[in-house]
Amino acid sequence: MHPVIDYEKCTGALACYEVCPADVFEVKEKDEVKKAVVVRPEDCTECEQCVDECPVDAIELVD
Ligand code: SF4
Repeated sequence: MHPVIDYEKCTGALACYEVCPADVFEVKEKDEVKKAVVVRPEDCTECEQCVDECPVDAIELVD
């Protein structure tokens, strides 16, 4: 499993980037806003902290 971000919902809070213990995300310019991007999906430990901390429920874990 690894996280997928719904960029229709994402506001660039970066909560996932800050909370992830496995360094799965990086911050990149996206839609003219700095947003988290999944760059190391293989490192995800499925802890679900990013899902829990996202203020707009923009993240889900998928296979
Ligand atoms: S589930 Fe955990 S390890 Fe995986 S991306 Fe989210 S915070 Fe990181």
